[in-house]
Amino acid sequence: MGTPIGDADIGRFATIAFRPVARYRMVPGKALGRFLEGLKEGKILGTFCGRCRQTFVPPRMYCSHCFRRVDRWVEVSDRGTVVTAVASYIEATRARASEPKIVGVIRLDVDDGAAAPSLFPGLLHFICGASVDDVVSRRIFGARVEAVWRPREHRTGSITDIECFRVVQ
Ligand SMILES: [Zn+2]
Repeated sequence: MGTPIGDADIGRFATIAFRPVARYRMVPGKALGRFLEGLKEGKILGTFCGRCRQTFVPPRMYCSHCFRRVDRWVEVSDRGTVVTAVASYIEATRARASEPKIVGVIRLDVDDGAAAPSLFPGLLHFICGASVDDVVSRRIFGARVEAVWRPREHRTGSITDIECFRVVQ
């Protein structure tokens, strides 16, 4: 058990300003690693549980419904449907955005006849070609979208290999 610091202790201790150099390396794990490698190739990969007939995008190695190992990998379409969306006024750096960005959850189509549509949570990404009014009026919900891929030579195995999902008719 420690000794609590009281009002009398304030000022007794030196304070220093310190700006850490925070470097880190992320290990994505088996499922996310393969997913990111797939993006570099222009493919969106998910995993499929045959018992629940559910496809997970982003992929998981274990089904979150029946807790067994998924049965196989599936390539899903780069087209899908907007499940939900918001207008964000905050950049990834947490700075105020000069222009609002539309961010949504996209449920991708599954071409494989054996598999069900990709599942919640779906893919979180920017939606381009949509406005704040599309969100406020709820027109964006259920909208059809397709991936806008970065040129192959600029892909790095990151979710940003897809620039955004563009609204299509
Ligand atoms: Zn399952």
